[in-house]
This record gives sequence, structure tokens and C-alpha cells, in this order.
Amino acid sequence: MTTAPAAKPPLIWLNILVFSITFLVAAIGVPWYAISIGFAGELTWILLATIAFAGISITAGYHRLWSHRTYDAHWSLRVLFALGGALAVQNSALHWSSDHREHHKHVDDNDRDPYSAKRGFWYSHIGWMLREYQAKRYHDYANVRDLEKDPIVRWQHKHYLKLVLLTTVGWPLLVGWLVGDIWGSILLVGVARLVINHHTTFFINSLAHIWGKQTYTDRNTARDNGVLALFTFGEGYHNYHHIFSGDYRNGIRWWQFDPSKWLIRSMSWLGLTKNLKRSNGYQIEKARLSMQLQRVTRGQQSLCEQQLAKLQQEYELLLARLKEYYQARKNWANQADLRDKIAAMQSTLKAHKKYFIALIESTLRAPEPAQG
Ligand SMILES: [Zn+2]
Ligand SMILES: [Zn+2]
Repeated sequence: MTTAPAAKPPLIWLNILVFSITFLVAAIGVPWYAISIGFAGELTWILLATIAFAGISITAGYHRLWSHRTYDAHWSLRVLFALGGALAVQNSALHWSSDHREHHKHVDDNDRDPYSAKRGFWYSHIGWMLREYQAKRYHDYANVRDLEKDPIVRWQHKHYLKLVLLTTVGWPLLVGWLVGDIWGSILLVGVARLVINHHTTFFINSLAHIWGKQTYTDRNTARDNGVLALFTFGEGYHNYHHIFSGDYRNGIRWWQFDPSKWLIRSMSWLGLTKNLKRSNGYQIEKARLSMQLQRVTRGQQSLCEQQLAKLQQEYELLLARLKEYYQARKNWANQADLRDKIAAMQSTLKAHKKYFIALIESTLRAPEPAQG
């Protein structure tokens, strides 16, 4: 049965004008100015620093501090994030967090996830902000009552427009006056910077739900993508983030590019952040191994029962070993004499993991066992 398509909700002209005018000015004005007049040299560095300040205020501040409460931050840091968030022009921290909590709670639900990736690239990237798709819950902050207790969040929400003007206009004017290139600064540090901050953040809602690996879960569209992490201050590890959203890290390996994590961690050494939350190591490894197992068992219809049973058996043994290892590590905090035992367990575990991966690979190469 088909039903007539519902009428589209009304357009939000303010957003349409802001996004399109800033984009056009950046795309046409910046190259024109560069060729015909030339930017003051210092502006490049100031542009990069401003992108980083506004961008990381969104990722480490709006996202990991306020939306997910993955750590606590000193008031001075929260004031900086509130200013940087206004500079990024992505609504107040309160509003942003409310939308984002809905996104996690109803991920991929086309009616309830504010930027559901299942509605396509355009919708999840920017389309969701161009029409009043969720007008009913626009001023409903029931899911962020905890954040309303933070005076800095309340202050930023109340004075959001003034703060946007102060930061997005005031800062480029000040920089332009200091380097002697007011129009260059307005174009580069003002407009082009805003467009870059906008679209790199928007990529987390669009591309990070389309392009990359499902390392830890395939229950939603979120993907891990190291390339995207480079442009999003570490938020490219979005598959990990959707399953372990209470973790202050997104890229959990030391080599993964996650400057938001580095900032939060290094600020803890100065006492400006505390209670940094990490997910349980066993649960992380378990999610990862379970996806690896699924990849073989789901894709290969030709696997015989014997092979499936062998994979399942090794998987369960490995999980039991992992559990034991993480339990021992936990106890290690109080009992230093466990050190040797854990080292031995770690090397056995490593060898077992290697064997398991090799088993997966050899199973994939020769799905059908020899007859007879
Ligand atoms: Zn997401
Ligand atoms: Zn999130």
C-alpha cells in the first residue's frame, strides 16, 4: 500500500541564507581577494588557529564534555568552549547537546534521529537544518536538564546571539586591525573559517555514517574512518563512539589521530579536567572480536557446520581468556605480585588472537572442506 507523500515542513530562511551566503563569499571572495589584492601573510596561521579553537570547542566541549559527560572540566575551560562554540555558530551548547542526545538515542530512526543518516547524505549533512523537520521538540530541553545546572551553559544559551556576533565579527575585526588587513581577515578568518568549521563538523553526521569500517558494531550506520578523523579533531572514529559514547576518547589506539582526546588528557595533568571516563577494556575487545567473527560466519554460506563450530568454540575460549586477563588487570591495581602472571597471560592471549585471525583467514580462503 502506498500513501501520498506528506507536505514538506516550512523552510528555515535564516539558516538557508547563512549557509549559502557564507559558502558563496568563501568560494568566490577568497580566491578573488587572493589574486587581486593578496592576504596578509599572518592570516594563514591565524586562520588555522581559529579553525582549531572553534572546532575543538565543539568536539571536546559541546560533544564529549556536555553531550556525553565523559569528563569534568574547570570553569575556565568551559568558558573557552562556550566562546569557541559560539564562534563555530552551531547553536548553543544546550541545544546542540539536546539534538545530539536524540541522535544517539534514536540513531538511524528517520522520524526521531534529528540527522538520521538513513535519510541520505544531503539530509544528514545540512538538509536537516534547512526545514522545520522537528519543530515540536525544538524548545524541549527535557533531555538536557543536567546541563541546565551548569551556569556557563545557561549563560551561553541566554546570550548566544550576542556571543556569536562578538566572536564571529569581533575576532576577525580585531585580527584584521592588528595585521593591517581588515577585509582580508573578514574574508579568511571570518567567512572562510566559518564555512570550514561548519562542513567539517557536518561531515561527522553525514560521511562518518557512510564511509569507513564498522569495527565494533553493525547495529547502526556509524563508521570508523581515519581520514575523516584528520579533519574532525579525532571524531572520525564514529563507530567506536556510537557503541562506547561514555568514553572521552574516540580514537582509542595511541596511533589514532584524536587531538580532542589529547587535549582532554593533557588538561588533566594541569588539573583542568578530571574524572576522565574510559569504557571497559573487555567490552571493547569483545565487540571487536564479535564483529570479526560475524564477518566470516555471515558472508560465507558455504561454511560447513564443523568450521562454524570450530570458529565459535575458539571465539568463546578467547573471550573467556580475555575476561580473565582484564579481571586480573583490575586486581593488579591492588596486588603487585600478579604482574608476572598477567605478563604470561598477555603473551598467551596474543598468540591465541593471532591463531584466531589466521583461522579466520584460512577459513575464508578454503570455505569448503575436503570431501571424504
Ligand atoms: Zn553519529
Ligand atoms: Zn556523540
